[in-house]
Amino acid sequence: MTRVAIYPGSFDPLTNGHLDILQRSMGLFDKVIIGVAINSSKSLLFSIEERLGFIRTVTEGWSNLEIDTFEGLTVDYCRKRGAKSIIRGLRAVTDFDYEYAISLMNKKLAPEVETIFLMSSNEYSFVSSTIVKEVARHGRDVSAQVPEIVSKALLKKLSK
Ligand code: ADP
Repeated sequence: MTRVAIYPGSFDPLTNGHLDILQRSMGLFDKVIIGVAINSSKSLLFSIEERLGFIRTVTEGWSNLEIDTFEGLTVDYCRKRGAKSIIRGLRAVTDFDYEYAISLMNKKLAPEVETIFLMSSNEYSFVSSTIVKEVARHGRDVSAQVPEIVSKALLKKLSK
């Protein structure tokens, strides 16, 4: 049986924290699908094409990884793709309440789907797309927190 996991998110934009979780989850599953949410409730800086482009460039040549988009509920997408696991990353305790509530709801909606939480690595525990955008908006360097293609895109977009 092929063990497939979905790593869902808005990835607006991709950070080194996302990549850390992605790489570590790929060691646990036969295949990981990174599912970029089209209809995120967050206000987004990058278009779906831009967000996908960053991920495609950075993960080029990685095996057992698929990059896809989805609309609607993550559990419905899991069923559609035959995935029994959802990967989520946990940073500080602030992530916990929100992620726990979602995982309980997802369990009710799709009992066969398990949410797997990976704790953030120490060096990325303070990295979030929101903070990275905020810092870049004020003209400061975020190249330690995001891949090079993303820091260039942030500079370009936010200096307009
Ligand atoms: P969402 O809008 O679904 O929260 P994000 O792109 O913000 O999407 O995050 C996707 C997933 O990656 C979430 O599980 C989030 O907790 C996790 N994540 C984001 N940044 C980090 C990080 N620095 N370390 C660990 N997990 C992270």
